[in-house]
Amino acid sequence: METLSLRKNYHPLCDRHRVEMMPMSNMPSQSESTQHCCTEECTRQYEALAGYYDWVDGGEISSPADSSRTCGQDKLGMYLATYNKETKREEWRCPACQHIEVVYL
Ligand SMILES: [Zn+2]
Ligand SMILES: [Zn+2]
Repeated sequence: METLSLRKNYHPLCDRHRVEMMPMSNMPSQSESTQHCCTEECTRQYEALAGYYDWVDGGEISSPADSSRTCGQDKLGMYLATYNKETKREEWRCPACQHIEVVYL
């Protein structure tokens, strides 16, 4: 099986609040790469292999169709890297390869 080399220092934004997410270092059941939104009551988490999903009361709730994007090359969940309020420009990046998708809302 091919080993994916994920980038180390990527900083996903919450795809709902567009604020920077933080690593879940205090939860042993979670891998270090799991990031969560710090906004109060936001259940959004991001993981390279899963993309964005909601986490409620210790159970993962998948979010189909939501705003999740998948890299066409390695099938990883892309993350929202930058958002420009003025131009309403979103930039989504793959955590492993150089793939970038730009979206104008
Ligand atoms: Zn959020
Ligand atoms: Zn990729």
